[in-house]
Amino acid sequence: MTSLLSNFVAGRWQTGSGAGTPLFDPVLGTELARVDATDLNLQAAFAYAREQGGSALRTLSYRERAALLAAAGKVLQANRDAYYNIATANSGTVKNDSAVDIDGGIYTLGTYAKMGETLGDRRHLLDGEMARLAKDPLFQSQHVLVPTRGVALFINAFNFPSWGLWEKAAPALLSGVPVIIKPATATAWLTQRMVQDVVDAGVLPAGALSVICGSSAGLLDQLQPFDVVSFTGSADTAKVIRSHPAIVQRSVRVNIEADSLNSALLLPGDGADSAAFDLFCKEVAREMTVKSGQKCTAIRRAFVPEALYAAAADGIRARLAKTTVGNPRNDTVRMGALVSRTQLHAVREGLAYLQAQAETLHDGATHALVDADSAVACCVGPTLLGARDAAGSDAADRIHDIEVFGPVATLVPYRPEGAHELSHALALVRRGQGSLVASVYGSDAAAIARTAIELADSHGRVHAVSPDVAALHTGHGNVMPQSLHGGPGRAGGGEELGGVFALKFYHRRAAIQASTTVLASLSPAG
Ligand code: NAP
Repeated sequence: MTSLLSNFVAGRWQTGSGAGTPLFDPVLGTELARVDATDLNLQAAFAYAREQGGSALRTLSYRERAALLAAAGKVLQANRDAYYNIATANSGTVKNDSAVDIDGGIYTLGTYAKMGETLGDRRHLLDGEMARLAKDPLFQSQHVLVPTRGVALFINAFNFPSWGLWEKAAPALLSGVPVIIKPATATAWLTQRMVQDVVDAGVLPAGALSVICGSSAGLLDQLQPFDVVSFTGSADTAKVIRSHPAIVQRSVRVNIEADSLNSALLLPGDGADSAAFDLFCKEVAREMTVKSGQKCTAIRRAFVPEALYAAAADGIRARLAKTTVGNPRNDTVRMGALVSRTQLHAVREGLAYLQAQAETLHDGATHALVDADSAVACCVGPTLLGARDAAGSDAADRIHDIEVFGPVATLVPYRPEGAHELSHALALVRRGQGSLVASVYGSDAAAIARTAIELADSHGRVHAVSPDVAALHTGHGNVMPQSLHGGPGRAGGGEELGGVFALKFYHRRAAIQASTTVLASLSPAG
């Protein structure tokens, strides 16, 4: 039997008292480790984080906390090789895909370390300007932001065990709020190991960072009014969390990052021989295959003018056909595995469901697995579906509703119509009910800008790809710490990252009404 991963709570390493849930290698099928949180004293764990971790962090300035992030980043850098090995074994990802998670997490931590440095030697932030409350300017109002006196509980998805931790923990710790992370069970090992390295290096105050691996049972019951919860995962689990009595009754602040039917939109006016068309095909194929399509931001629906449907199908298909799929330990493999057999079944089932309303333009089943046994490995080739024609795009409802969390996307033709040539495309995009990201491809800057504004109300991020930024753009699906991550509607309504904006979630906002002399003392120079 494999060994149980330890949990780190109340300042010490503790294993659960149960037999544990096994974690598997999704390519070889072997058991790697087990996780368990049975009989942990959760009340003590939360109290320790709040009291020890919270008070230690709050005595530090933003600059000092930024230095903690930088120190944690150094620890992670020093152990990168171990993280890549864990990702290969437990997530079944090729090196480039592991990098998105591991180096993406370290980069985000480093970005917040630099940002925190610029916030200086303060322990609170001002929000906006002073506002006069009466005729006499002597008495005014100033909003301030102070760290919440609670704990930040993170419940994360399986697809980003590293980035998912650090993109949340960096702004929380910089804000002065201690963190308890509960990773998704299937890939908990990498999160647990990273926390272990940072804790063992002694770079954070006691209680600032805890990890609980295994069942989520009882976690939400511990929440108190000044705690916050940040959840990433499926819409179904999000519903359970939102309606949990502790959250409802104690007004616990919650951020939800759920699933999303992200779009890529090729504007009319750029033909099949254009650079914009080529960039579109390249990005769709890339997004389908990075991390085997297990990215919340991956392109699920790719919209093209009806006349370019066949050419786009060819362009994307040609790229997908070159994707070698199989064991990530083999250097010729470009796309590794799905994370588990559960995911493999879910992807197969979801694909069949979509195929009832769409044609198959490229069939993932045509990809022979490299160095992997198809009876054991959770590997699937990329599949491109198509809605056939614009009428088919209108009629098909499943492609706008079901997120198949794997290397699957649907090509959706739209009718460019006269002066309002994007109205059909935009209506189709909006059937996703709110997404994390839409990307727009074209060479007409004014048309791209108009479309970006049109899409901004239903997307957290609009990523515009024009030929002038072909070699510069950061990628449709890559979440950059400088930009907002989250989306309205079915994407969960959450907001993460976006630079210093992320700190607001971990702060309480209050208005101070006082003499301008008092208010002047609140400012950094005061
Ligand atoms: P999931 O099944 O909803 O699980 C997410 C997390 O919630 C896991 O840690 C899970 O723990 C925990 N959990 C399950 N039931 C719970 C409950 N009743 N109370 C509290 N916690 C509970 O999602 P997943 O399968 O890991 O992730 C895939 C989904 O996440 C996809 O839909 C994807 O789109 C979405 N996602 C969104 C983003 C984003 O930023 N918007 C990013 C990544 C992924 P266990 O693992 O122990 O069950």
